[in-house]
Amino acid sequence: YATKGLAIVSNRLPTIVEFEASTKAWSGKPGCGGLVSAMNPILERRGGTWVGWPGMINEDARGHESRLDELLDGLGQQAGYALESVMLNAEQVRDYYGGFANSVLWPLFHGFPNRCDFNPRYWKSYLKVNRRFAATLMDTLDEDQPVWVHDYHLLVVAEMLRSMGFEGRIGFFLHIPFPALENFIKLPWRAELMRALLAFDLVGFQSARDERNFLECVERLVPHASISRVASTSTVLLEGEAAQSVTVGVFPISIDFEDFETRARSPSVLQHLDALRRDFGATKMFLGVDRLDYTKGLVERFHAFELLLEEHPELCESVVLFQLVVPSRENVPEYQALKREVDRIVGRINGRFSSPSWQPIHYLYNTVSTEELTALYRFASVAVVTPLCDGMNLVAKEFCAAQVDESGVLVLSEFAGAADEFHRDALLVNPYDTVGCAQVLYRAVMMDRQERRERIQRLRARVQTHHVFRWANQFVESLHEPSTLLEVSD
Ligand code: UDP
Repeated sequence: YATKGLAIVSNRLPTIVEFEASTKAWSGKPGCGGLVSAMNPILERRGGTWVGWPGMINEDARGHESRLDELLDGLGQQAGYALESVMLNAEQVRDYYGGFANSVLWPLFHGFPNRCDFNPRYWKSYLKVNRRFAATLMDTLDEDQPVWVHDYHLLVVAEMLRSMGFEGRIGFFLHIPFPALENFIKLPWRAELMRALLAFDLVGFQSARDERNFLECVERLVPHASISRVASTSTVLLEGEAAQSVTVGVFPISIDFEDFETRARSPSVLQHLDALRRDFGATKMFLGVDRLDYTKGLVERFHAFELLLEEHPELCESVVLFQLVVPSRENVPEYQALKREVDRIVGRINGRFSSPSWQPIHYLYNTVSTEELTALYRFASVAVVTPLCDGMNLVAKEFCAAQVDESGVLVLSEFAGAADEFHRDALLVNPYDTVGCAQVLYRAVMMDRQERRERIQRLRARVQTHHVFRWANQFVESLHEPSTLLEVSD
């Protein structure tokens, strides 16, 4: 395979690898996340390399890494592109990954500065690990091979590649929000990070909000920078010795629409759907699907649902909230505390409203198969997607794609990136406004058939045309030729 097409860099490699201590054998399989399926067609066409961390590995695996390289070679052959691993030790997993990425950048960029732990040790580790990613890249890159860096774990990779002499084009896409100036400036390393971001040739964001926030930070924090705007493309010009221009654009990520749509009609999903129909009958389902995270607005959502039942007791017995919570970052104390809080609220509301034959909240703390998830999306009367802040929120898009019966309503937070594209046809809410949310939940569940159909048809049409392959192509085209940056949010 051609390894010199495009280089993709992300925190995690698109594979799942395991080490069996007793046999000292590695095993692995391709990963299946959204980013993997988005990148596969591009990498298949152009060839290339994917650089990333293979994930948490057993300490027993130390010293057996060369076998891992063999395994990755094999998996790469299958996938059609090379896989290069960056190994992290336990301290780096703690300080770079758990620390700077998930206890500084994640809360800060989602607008929760009080949840940040600005430990200088985390920053040092972040620099060190980003340098390792850059060095691994340098070993594999051709002189002018384009590089696409993904997400908040790797903000300073371009600057490091430049210092190592790389001259090819480097693009960056931020999957999470970019914070408002008043939050960004709380970061002790704000100047260093801004400088590092401006070492990319192309910086892409999920929504207009993120781009606006970024440009405001550039304006206020970077001396000798000027911003020009032509159509939907902004360019940051840096004057001085190393004059340079950085293209900035909005590229809302999406999903493989056809895949969800086809699956929604598959025999296995129909089987799960039958089971849901048996269990819930004519009961109308509000559906929430979220990773356990304080950005997802779970507690606020339960309060709104509770108020709905209080204000409309006639809905008792005829609606349920089915809340799937996917375990996440389970070793972080903050996430453990959130889990306890969610358990407590669900228990309290169920204790308060349940009858012998009915329970208002069905709460699963688990992952489910894609088929089960798709059946839930198809069965639900109302999807309740109410994060306090979210880069995009793919659940909102997956729900639309799976709604082949065209009867569901999408309730969507104003603070999800998806609101940019869906504001006309979803029912938008401010998740902090319990009274407003309860009213919108009521409106959603009472909406007449025709309005529901018209809204979901338009939402589905949007996701069908603005699918994830278009997203990836537009980013890569813009990386090669910034002037082709199209009006992607149309
Ligand atoms: N998801 C999953 N397993 C589950 C339930 C959901 O992998 O049991 C997926 C879901 O299909 C979606 C993703 O998790 O693609 C959540 O993405 P989103 O953008 O909504 O939020 P994130 O978790 O990335 O913050």
